[in-house]
Amino acid sequence: MATRIDKKITGYSVALPEDKAKQADTPAAPATGEERGAKVIQMHEKIERPETLVGTTYKLKTPLFEHALYVTINDIVLNAGSEHEHRRPFEIFINSKNMDHFQWIVALTRIMSAVFRKGGDVTFLVEEMKAVFDPRGGYFKAGGVYMPSLVAELGSIVEEHLKAIGMIQEPGMSPEQRALIEEKRAAYAQLESKKNTDEPVAPRDEHSGELFPEPRVHAPARDEDVAVTGDGGASFPPSATMCHKCSTKAIVIMDGCATCLNCGYSKCG
Ligand SMILES: [Zn+2]
Repeated sequence: MATRIDKKITGYSVALPEDKAKQADTPAAPATGEERGAKVIQMHEKIERPETLVGTTYKLKTPLFEHALYVTINDIVLNAGSEHEHRRPFEIFINSKNMDHFQWIVALTRIMSAVFRKGGDVTFLVEEMKAVFDPRGGYFKAGGVYMPSLVAELGSIVEEHLKAIGMIQEPGMSPEQRALIEEKRAAYAQLESKKNTDEPVAPRDEHSGELFPEPRVHAPARDEDVAVTGDGGASFPPSATMCHKCSTKAIVIMDGCATCLNCGYSKCG
């Protein structure tokens, strides 16, 4: 980092390792008025990696590779034990038996780790990564959530981690919204059970053809066409189509209207 010297130099000394350690205790970036004097350690590049860090490893299984990817995010706890205790990501590693993507995965994780260590707001990484589309097409995760690319899924893992350590606050649904979704799920379940008892002999295929006249969203072929689960463990019918609002296969037709059983989106308002 370049430092502009405006005053006359009256003396100098060679920087020693101890000085570096001392410097790491105080913020390098100019503290704002409020923070000045308050000895709160903020994340910055000079913070040295402690011998041990706490972390979480996420297993990522995609239809793209035979082998799973293991994503480890290690965190640093700043101002431990004080009211300014603050947990932040410090480094990320990705491991796999699959070596096909080794080169760019190493590059990506090194750059991400560098961003983490710079300090400041790192949540932008999530949005940037989740917006990456694979031109060869994305895939559906277990749970029916559409992933436009592997990078996007890595972004969603970082998001999950940042939510877990409290750096991203979940917007959360309003109680009214939750109630509405519950109501729709219940109504759909009732509709289904009524249908099953009314015409038990009707062939299943014709049946769903009648009930779901909307063309299905073109999706990469996956054989596991079973009921999938979304947020909160709710399961959606296998015939459900993709919701463009929440990227989950949870759209069903209720009273002639496309309705999402995951986020409550409805075509008819
Ligand atoms: Zn939805």
